[in-house]
Amino acid sequence: MRSSKYLLATQKETPSDAEIVSHQLMLRAGMVRKLASGLYTWLPNGLRVLSKVEQIVREEMNASGSIEIHMPTVQPSDLWQETGRWDKFGPELLRFKDRHSRDFVLGPTHEEVVTELVRREVNSYKQLPLNLFQIQAKFRDEVRPRFGVMRSREFLMKDAYSFHLSDECLQSTYDEMYAAYCRIFERLGLEYRPVLADTGSIGGSVSHEFHVLAESGEDAIVFSDNSDYAANIEKAEALAPAGERPAPSQEMQEVATPNAKTIAELVEQFDIKVEQTVKTLIVKASEESEHSLIALILRGDHELNEIKAENLTEIASPLEFASEEEIRAAVGAGPGSLGPVNLPMPVIVDRAAAHCSDFGAGANVDDKHFFGINWERDVVLGEVADLRNVVEGDPSPCGSGNLSIKRGIEVGHIFQLGDAYAKSMNAAVLNEQGKNQTLTMGCYGVGVSRIVAAAIEQNNDKYGITWPDAIAPFKLAIVPMNMHKSHRVQEVASKLYEEAKQRGIDVLFDDRKERPGVMFADIELIGIPHVIVIGDRSLDKGVIEYKNRRSGEKVEVAVEQIFDQF
Ligand code: ATP
Ligand code: MG
Ligand code: MG
Ligand code: MG
Repeated sequence: MRSSKYLLATQKETPSDAEIVSHQLMLRAGMVRKLASGLYTWLPNGLRVLSKVEQIVREEMNASGSIEIHMPTVQPSDLWQETGRWDKFGPELLRFKDRHSRDFVLGPTHEEVVTELVRREVNSYKQLPLNLFQIQAKFRDEVRPRFGVMRSREFLMKDAYSFHLSDECLQSTYDEMYAAYCRIFERLGLEYRPVLADTGSIGGSVSHEFHVLAESGEDAIVFSDNSDYAANIEKAEALAPAGERPAPSQEMQEVATPNAKTIAELVEQFDIKVEQTVKTLIVKASEESEHSLIALILRGDHELNEIKAENLTEIASPLEFASEEEIRAAVGAGPGSLGPVNLPMPVIVDRAAAHCSDFGAGANVDDKHFFGINWERDVVLGEVADLRNVVEGDPSPCGSGNLSIKRGIEVGHIFQLGDAYAKSMNAAVLNEQGKNQTLTMGCYGVGVSRIVAAAIEQNNDKYGITWPDAIAPFKLAIVPMNMHKSHRVQEVASKLYEEAKQRGIDVLFDDRKERPGVMFADIELIGIPHVIVIGDRSLDKGVIEYKNRRSGEKVEVAVEQIFDQF
């Protein structure tokens, strides 16, 4: 590819509305552009990476015996009625009507559609097990799309579904998928961890999530330092041995004992669900509620009944900001993160307000408001140690080692679903005994587009992205110095470009009439791992320069030897 015929679309300025480094770099490196909230156009630099990730996922799925299909994004509501998810799914499910007033959804996931296919196509045990996958756009009307393609509304997912007649058979496919996922994330060059996950409301018993380790991750994951035990925080809390944690002090209990009436009022007014009540009460609004997240944090000598339900709306309304210094002074917070553990008074947080104010949050004291806190991540997901029932250093429930907690980005999720979908949709086949038997299912998701962002979180430096070869938009950049003035430079550069193409190397030939500094900055920003620099000065010595983007190492080599470098 020649830069002059390409859409490089790089940007110098760091976009102000991008909070995490991957989002900033994806915009600056000309990978994506926002169309509307949670909707992104993939530009050539982004699409090249996305396609490489997609291809690695596809190859490993094929290698593990899964078979590719492609289902429609638009799904009729009848199937969702059959499984009961039409009522249960909530507003993440985008619903609409066609010209005949029939209800449809934009697929957030495809259990219904694939089960509909299998109940028609498969009628004998001889056709099982069957594992089908697709790589396809999903739509989820996320309450809060953010971090660019990390949490978008339309995103690319690899979703696979397996069908079996026995739990043993399901387990064996599950194990194959687990192994395939490990190969995928290894080939992608990511530092990742599989962790035990909760199976939640769908039923089923076994589930693992695959997390890419990154500080910006929205999830907390828990590991033993001396065994294979690893779980997401929800599962870790479920597994934590009861009674191990010190009971809250008398004082704490008094503070934390919520005034029943007030809580009841809150629950009624905001349709909220009480998530946790120890020192902290975290209440989460239902998806329908206007106040999508409300956290009450009780500290010091304040009591919950001081917070009147009416205050919620008042506090959640217009926000005023104090400086961070003022806030730290007011709450006695030292350096480091300004977290709710440092807050000596009850604080009410409203997510809608927090959203429009860059993570600011209303407080009911002295008209001060807090910001710099990621409430959803740090509070609700229990990042603040005080709030959870599993903390760093706890003994591991597996009996070996102590726990450490890290942040992760969920990039994959595998699940033994059991027969919940097959039962409600009546998906059965004739078994070996000639009897009708309901199928049992597994499902296996990979966030293909999220992986692109997650990979950048792990591969960047102050100059831009440092792609591993496997998913770089181009493997090689050829950067000629003043090519438009030097015939010799042009000749060598063009020759190497042709040779790279012949060798099947993904190459970008930067043939723009730009200053060398501009070209280098762009090549580093978009993260091309191998760079050849051709200039008259080195050609005089009979060499050209090879630069490795990741190590920063530069060497001069004879023109003929350049392709031995990488
Ligand atoms: P999350 O907890 O981040 O909301 P999820 O558990 O709802 O994800 P799954 O239903 O397990 O997601 O979907 C499979 C995979 O799809 C996830 O592991 C994740 O990598 C990806 N994914 C889910 N939601 C999004 C999104 N809004 N944007 C990008 N990728 C997503
Ligand atoms: Mg989700
Ligand atoms: Mg999840
Ligand atoms: Mg999940």
